[in-house]
Amino acid sequence: MADIDSALQILSRNNYKLTKQRKELLKYLYQFQIEYINVSQVDEFMRQLYPKMSHNTIYRNIRDFNRLGIVEMQTRQGVLQVKYQCDFDHFHHHHFICTNCGKVRELDECPMEQFERQLPGCRITGHRFEIYGICDECMQKFKNR
Ligand SMILES: [Zn+2]
Ligand SMILES: [Zn+2]
Ligand SMILES: [Zn+2]
Repeated sequence: MADIDSALQILSRNNYKLTKQRKELLKYLYQFQIEYINVSQVDEFMRQLYPKMSHNTIYRNIRDFNRLGIVEMQTRQGVLQVKYQCDFDHFHHHHFICTNCGKVRELDECPMEQFERQLPGCRITGHRFEIYGICDECMQKFKNR
């Protein structure tokens, strides 16, 4: 599971000062565990709280959080989005994303092994893998209509 304390520990372990801005940013992002939010909305929220905080600082903090595994990021139709880490015990994981409600579910398995076998002699440096569809909750709603 993902809580705020784990994120604070990661920050201090990496010598990031736990400023009230960073804590506020974390607390806000924490609300988005099962769905992505546009980074521009996060920026807007922070600027309301701290009008003197620059866009650059806000974006840099979000990117730092991403590098440390505290948040997950993606680009969707050219829009940068962010969500809180699903699972601090398994930084590396994949998602099922519902195209109807936008909810994100963590997947347990990584399919990379299968592909590695098809690439003998290559050095793989990264991968992305996502499954899209309609989640069970939305399927229920459709059925009951
Ligand atoms: Zn995740
Ligand atoms: Zn859904
Ligand atoms: Zn993987």
